[in-house]
Amino acid sequence: MKRVVIVGGGYAGVALARALDRNAEVCLVEARDRFVHNAAAIRSVVAPALLERIVIPYDRLLRRGAVRRGVVASASEHGVVLAGGEAIEADVVIVATGSRYAEPFKPDGDSAAAFNGSIRAAHATLRAADNVAIVGGGAVGVELAGEISTAFPNKSVTLVSNAPALMPGYSAKFSRALQTQLRRKGVQLRLDTRVETLAHRERPHAGILGNDAGDEPRHLIFPALGAQPVTALFREMVGARFDRQGRVIVDGWLRPAGLSRLFSLGDAAATGDPMTIVAITRQAPWLAKTINALLAGRRIESLAPYKPWPARGILVPLGPQDGASMLPILGRGWFAGRWATALIKGRELFIPRYLKEFGYDK
Ligand SMILES: Cc1cc2nc3c(=O)[nH]c(=O)nc-3n(C[C@H](O)[C@H](O)[C@H](O)COP(=O)(O)OP(=O)(O)OC[C@H]3O[C@@H](n4cnc5c(N)ncnc54)[C@H](O)[C@@H]3O)c2cc1C
Repeated sequence: MKRVVIVGGGYAGVALARALDRNAEVCLVEARDRFVHNAAAIRSVVAPALLERIVIPYDRLLRRGAVRRGVVASASEHGVVLAGGEAIEADVVIVATGSRYAEPFKPDGDSAAAFNGSIRAAHATLRAADNVAIVGGGAVGVELAGEISTAFPNKSVTLVSNAPALMPGYSAKFSRALQTQLRRKGVQLRLDTRVETLAHRERPHAGILGNDAGDEPRHLIFPALGAQPVTALFREMVGARFDRQGRVIVDGWLRPAGLSRLFSLGDAAATGDPMTIVAITRQAPWLAKTINALLAGRRIESLAPYKPWPARGILVPLGPQDGASMLPILGRGWFAGRWATALIKGRELFIPRYLKEFGYDK
């Protein structure tokens, strides 16, 4: 049986490991002791009891393959070397090292316990704050504004974005729906506004938003300025190139640096899709099928290359009942309103699905 090493047990690495488990000897190497379903991290800032269900052990994930806890220090198409010096050989290597995000939304470092601590600390600070500001009008900032204004309707919540509309890159109808619902929840939107003096870009902190009149109250400020791809392993590879977001450039079969048996997907790779789980739901099945064909002896260039989603898809709940979505179908995407967003994602945040995939639904 052929050996496959996957670096990174986030959404991409986990989906691929499960899809290849039957046909290959899979070794999934992950720095953390537990998977964090970070799509539900935003609501856990207002409801930290959710942590018990979104930080999930890896021990029941694979039937045949193994999940190894460790940090990969270098990767080639012949295998990986762990930080302690141990080498793991493989016939195919996949690097799915993902991205970082500001605290408390994604774990930083290799401890899931530290992530729990960071969410609980943010929750305690939030409870004590009267004025909350979120800087960044992308999915995380918008969703956080929706969750806080729903859970704490008496707090003053301000959402600041340097773009003229929320969710830049998506349709005007989608932005308008989110803006209207947030205003109804009492969120003050400051669009086309650049915050010049953000004391920290990586963690929540107390500060003053404006630098004009001097009569601004102090806010609890959550920076939500976007994901930073984690690409250290590619930086060591001769010929690796990166796009403007810092994602590694890959060929049509998701291979970086001119390599033939090393692949990448998810947030780390410039696949043509945005950095979302929605994108991974297309990439992982395609890559599993391609790798299975490769392991069965097919020449990769004889297989169909990866085609990104035709449109950018994202589901943005604003609390359990509200929100809006763009489904990545048809040429320009399909708009879905409050009801469909709540039904598909808002109520449960896909938590039951991940508990089931990890064997922890019972
Ligand atoms: C708060 C928040 C909410 C989000 N909600 C949604 C949503 O609702 N829907 C949606 O579509 N997208 C959402 N996203 C985006 C989504 O989280 C990312 O697209 C997704 O995490 C990317 O998955 P990935 O597997 O590529 O990387 P990651 O999830 O970042 O996983 C990478 C993994 O690799 C491991 N790793 C890194 N380097 C090494 C190494 N050298 N050795 C070993 N292990 C390593 C890390 O520990 C990590 O577990 C959200 C993002 C944030 C921040």
